[in-house]
Amino acid sequence: MLGGLARWLRAAGYDAQFEYGIDDGDLVRRAAASGQILLSSDGPMFERNLIKKAHVRALYIPQQLSKMEQLQFVLRELKLPRRQAKCMSCGGELSEVPKHAVMGEAPPLAFRNCERFWRCTRCSKLFWHGTHWQRITHRLGELAE
Ligand SMILES: [Zn+2]
Repeated sequence: MLGGLARWLRAAGYDAQFEYGIDDGDLVRRAAASGQILLSSDGPMFERNLIKKAHVRALYIPQQLSKMEQLQFVLRELKLPRRQAKCMSCGGELSEVPKHAVMGEAPPLAFRNCERFWRCTRCSKLFWHGTHWQRITHRLGELAE
């Protein structure tokens, strides 16, 4: 349910893992073992003992929120400042690549309209700041004000 949120948390610079269909118990145990914060829209999950006894930091994400609202909600509730973006696919570090190096690889429209490009050092995926990115960062900027 929150797969899109994980991608945008990475864009905001945070490690986020998402696994489709993972068992609730496994998820809680994994968060307990790794010290990661558990995010879920699944109300009954919050009845689990590990969470109730506060061995796991968990945040309930209201289901009716849009993806963007979910991201804003999480950053606000957990008081997370925006950091340098990570790869939206795998959470790897991004390193900037010169524009001429991505000619023929970047889609023509992106190559024409964007000046800066980044490559994931882990999965090699290429990123640029397209209109979608600009809309998101603009709204995250509003949040920070
Ligand atoms: Zn990556």
